[in-house]
Amino acid sequence: MIAEIIIESNVKNLNRVFDYNIPKEMENNISIGSRVLVPFGRSKKLEEGFVTNIKDSTEYEVKDVAKIEEQLLTTDKIKLSKWMAKRYFSNVSECMRLMLKPGTTSKNFANRAKDKTAIFVSLALPNEQILNYIKTNKIKSEKQKSILSYLINNNIERQAVLIEETGTSRAIIKTLEKNGLVKLQEQKVVRDPLMSKNIKRTKNLDFTEEQQTAYRKILNSIENNEFKEFLLYGVTGSGKTEIYLQLIEKIVEKGKSAIMLVPEISLTPQMINRFIERFGKEIISVLHSKLSVGERHDSWEKIESGEARIVIGARSAIFAPVNDLGIIIIDEEHDSSYKSEMPPRYNAKEVAREIAKNNNIPLLLGSATPDITTFYNAKCGNIELLKLTKRANNSNMPNIQIVDLRQELANGNKTMISIKLYKLIEENLKNKKQTILFLNRRGFSTFIMCRDCGYVAKCKNCNISLTYHKKEEKLKCHYCGYEEPVVKICPNCGSIKIKHFGTGTQKLELEINKIFPNASTIRMDIDTVTKKNSHEEILRKFNQDKIDILIGTQMIVKGHHFPDVTLVGVVSADGSLNIDDYRASERTFDLLVQVAGRAGRENLQGNVIIQTYNPDNYSIQYSKKQNYEQFYDVEIKLRKQLRYPPFCDIIMFGISGEQENIVSKTANELYINLDKHIKEKNIFANILKPLPAPIDKIKNRYRWRIIMKTNLNDNIIEIINNCLYDKELLKNNARVIADINPTNMM
Ligand code: ADP
Ligand code: ZN
Ligand code: ZN
Repeated sequence: MIAEIIIESNVKNLNRVFDYNIPKEMENNISIGSRVLVPFGRSKKLEEGFVTNIKDSTEYEVKDVAKIEEQLLTTDKIKLSKWMAKRYFSNVSECMRLMLKPGTTSKNFANRAKDKTAIFVSLALPNEQILNYIKTNKIKSEKQKSILSYLINNNIERQAVLIEETGTSRAIIKTLEKNGLVKLQEQKVVRDPLMSKNIKRTKNLDFTEEQQTAYRKILNSIENNEFKEFLLYGVTGSGKTEIYLQLIEKIVEKGKSAIMLVPEISLTPQMINRFIERFGKEIISVLHSKLSVGERHDSWEKIESGEARIVIGARSAIFAPVNDLGIIIIDEEHDSSYKSEMPPRYNAKEVAREIAKNNNIPLLLGSATPDITTFYNAKCGNIELLKLTKRANNSNMPNIQIVDLRQELANGNKTMISIKLYKLIEENLKNKKQTILFLNRRGFSTFIMCRDCGYVAKCKNCNISLTYHKKEEKLKCHYCGYEEPVVKICPNCGSIKIKHFGTGTQKLELEINKIFPNASTIRMDIDTVTKKNSHEEILRKFNQDKIDILIGTQMIVKGHHFPDVTLVGVVSADGSLNIDDYRASERTFDLLVQVAGRAGRENLQGNVIIQTYNPDNYSIQYSKKQNYEQFYDVEIKLRKQLRYPPFCDIIMFGISGEQENIVSKTANELYINLDKHIKEKNIFANILKPLPAPIDKIKNRYRWRIIMKTNLNDNIIEIINNCLYDKELLKNNARVIADINPTNMM
């Protein structure tokens, strides 16, 4: 028998199957998805690969498979990898890597996650006998007694925990072991991130009529084993999560499993707790990038074994090895984190759709501000639209006001806080209520410029201006991390009028501390969130220590629930409006609606102030009204006029390398090739000539790009794959990638 094998490699030339003979003695142990070692090329070292097919014969002269390592992937996953590789212009092995158990992907075997073991202590004699020894004073040492009592109550415990709980030592346990009272054994420890959670259970809520209708329709699809896509569209607090919970309950009752994706940042304890409260932690597994490899490895095994039936995770949890999948839910489906910006540049929503199709199960998307493309598809009838129009717990929508910063400036207010916002913060402080101030720019200022000659401090490696960080007195590049001491004299003209412009969260905090010296503040942005849990730590502190004002970037807006926050100030809504991206308005609208959702979630009336230099912009106007559908109506017309998604797909080709001339030459070759094939096949596609990217240098690599507008289909995917994998093009010393509807157009 012959195995078709994909070599584990990112090298584009190796992205095809190679045939190998399966030696007789291996025939029974090898199957599709086995990881094997094979001799390859002239190298003596064996290469790692995956079996993607098994067949009877080959037309080539082939070598033997050298060794079978382990069975790591299912036939389904191999099929999905192949589909993804084509669709996202990447190597099959890059896609397969996403589907491997965490900790098994390392090329260096020694680095692979091993099962973690620990010493466990248990009683060597029956409970009654030990109790008797204690009662009859046969055991005199208090420390020994406390260990034995602990074990009577808990049966078995990890030695380390036992020592800590009883305040004893290893030596005392050793003595007990010598006297034949306890025994020690090594056992596997499961690293479970939910271990420490102990939570009261909750019961299903009675649905509102709208919830009931939506629930019934989705349940129907589950019961008919049919693929169907739903959009659950409802404002924050309209009861979407309650529907997810009850659908998942049904899935579990049927002996099936569910995957629920949430944006990484909203994988907060609050959110996970709601699931644990309903289902208990035993059948839940969480997967996200903040977990250690060991924890992810063990979560993966908990899913694989069928013990965990509910997987909650960020983007890559879509690849979790669930048995008998019954539904996929994607919450906050408009969130950009579902699209990977690293190879393979997949969109988890599209992958979810493919998996749902292959498994004949429903795909449920949920959002208060759906992706424009999703809503368009719902309106066209490709997705079934389910609406929740009211907040389930009848809490009020916040009162939203827009402040025109131009007017503020004209009135002589040079601070970042308008008079209106100032008064509301003051009032909030008086009433001991909390405030959130949102600014989508970290650091102190946006850039440093010389007022005499116009010199702007830029990164040495990237063509982008440096941001001033006041605390460290440094200029930092937010793209590559390069930093240098702040300049006091213009390196260009020697002037001392070199100043910082624009504002970041650091400066905002400083200013707030000046204006409200008695208010306590806490800041949350990438610079303050560093350690494993400190994101949660900051939020916990804000909540429990009743800090008056939380200042932060994007990070603070998602999914958190703070009962005492009654005021939210958007210090500047313009940051996301002025980006060079067709989704600028959509992003701004989403963000403002989400920020506003943080105000007054309980019974208290919330206030939101949006400060902007563009008060008439439609995304700002409609966010004031919290009216997604009106916003959508304007936006979709513009998209149609300008021919942007959903009316086409945008494919961005990125060409980068260390030598600019090679980069531009490669870009031109690719352009000519694409253009030729598209004309030959008579396919609709609009390709723009290659140009340097808006940020034309990052980390000392020159960057060019080609933009293509087209309607993605199998023909065009094949043409692009052929051009990208073209042998002549691959000879150039430049990296070439293609990205479908990228989140970042810079
Ligand atoms: P969403 O996911 O749309 O933000 P949630 O499901 O979190 O909404 O619901 C918001 C709040 O309303 C929660 O506190 C939830 O417990 C409550 N809730 C949801 N559905 C109901 C219902 N049918 N009856 C009463 N309260 C409900
Ligand atoms: Zn100057
Ligand atoms: Zn840089």
